[in-house]
Amino acid sequence: MIFSSSDFDGHEMVVAFSNRRARLKGFIAIHSTALGPAFGGCRMWPYADEGAAVKDALRLSRGMSYKNAIAGLDYGGGKAVIMADPRGEKTPELFRAFGHAVDRLGGQYITAEDVGVSVEDMQFVAEATTWVGGIPKGGGYRGGDPSPVTARGVFAGIKAAARARLARDDLSGLTVAVQGLGHVGYNLARLLSAAGARLKVADISAGNVERAVEALGAEAISPDDLLATEADVLSPCALGGVLNRDTIPRIKAAVVAGAANNQLATEGDGDRLAARGILYAPDYVINAGGIISAAAERDPAATREAVFHKVDEIGDRLAEIFARSEQSGHGPHEVADEMAREIIRAADGRASGGG
Ligand code: NAD
Repeated sequence: MIFSSSDFDGHEMVVAFSNRRARLKGFIAIHSTALGPAFGGCRMWPYADEGAAVKDALRLSRGMSYKNAIAGLDYGGGKAVIMADPRGEKTPELFRAFGHAVDRLGGQYITAEDVGVSVEDMQFVAEATTWVGGIPKGGGYRGGDPSPVTARGVFAGIKAAARARLARDDLSGLTVAVQGLGHVGYNLARLLSAAGARLKVADISAGNVERAVEALGAEAISPDDLLATEADVLSPCALGGVLNRDTIPRIKAAVVAGAANNQLATEGDGDRLAARGILYAPDYVINAGGIISAAAERDPAATREAVFHKVDEIGDRLAEIFARSEQSGHGPHEVADEMAREIIRAADGRASGGG
């Protein structure tokens, strides 16, 4: 059920952890440590069963390997999943117990926030282990909530995509449809608005929409209509799986570039976008700002300027992916996967004394 899972991809290690008193149960999956310790967030989700939790950990940890490799970080890929409902089952004791589980891996896996887990939760994790990122610290690069940094990277990526697909050097007058105005989406909307873009926005939380309409002059669109709305750029910043067989034929934007993880429901959906001439910015490339920020927290020499510079390079990296895609005829999603695998293979070769 692990080795035979369709999401198993030669993962180095999968660990189950539990603590009855803290009502903690979950898994840590380490996909690759070829580039360094496995670094990736901890997701809390009311998984239907342990099979679903393992599957998610396998899939997400491989994604982190690719994300960290392409972002040029000296970290491998890993991910933790906690089987619990973030609305009602969070306790400090649970997060401390999770911290102990992380600590027992001795630094092979470094954790951080992900869906369902906040900066405050991570502070409890940090009471039990130092192998944790995404929490503010004093001195050097402060770090903390990675969302504004993620938004900065997505903004750089949208500019690169607009240059490649719309031959535009700036975003003024372009219409960007933003799905989800949460931690990343709202910060992104602010950057887009300041750059002169016209915003169309949707969120299932009415308050988030109101804030964008009032503060940024955005046009509110119903969540059901956002993906198919007239726009130059569609920016999914809410959920995964939004690009699929049903939605792709309805998309009117020429560019899809947003923060959400796992936007493509299946591999085939990347091909489907390419076939329609829609330029897709691979999610794990464009949304790497958060992990770049969390990694910098562990580097005593890191500065805010250096972090921002590295995050802005996401635009250059995407430009290279788009150019290679154009040359090869393969979609950007395939080009990015192959680039990530090349980087990991090269590090693996060095580790085993190969060329
Ligand atoms: P968040 O929970 O703060 O925001 C998500 C927003 O989407 C919420 O406001 C929610 O109401 C809204 N939403 C949910 N379903 C929706 C729907 N059907 N239509 C419109 N809006 C909907 O999360 P976040 O931290 O902003 O992250 C957004 C996405 O980016 C997630 O997929 C996350 O995995 C990914 N991501 C985040 C970071 C980060 O630094 N926070 C880094 C990398 C990737």
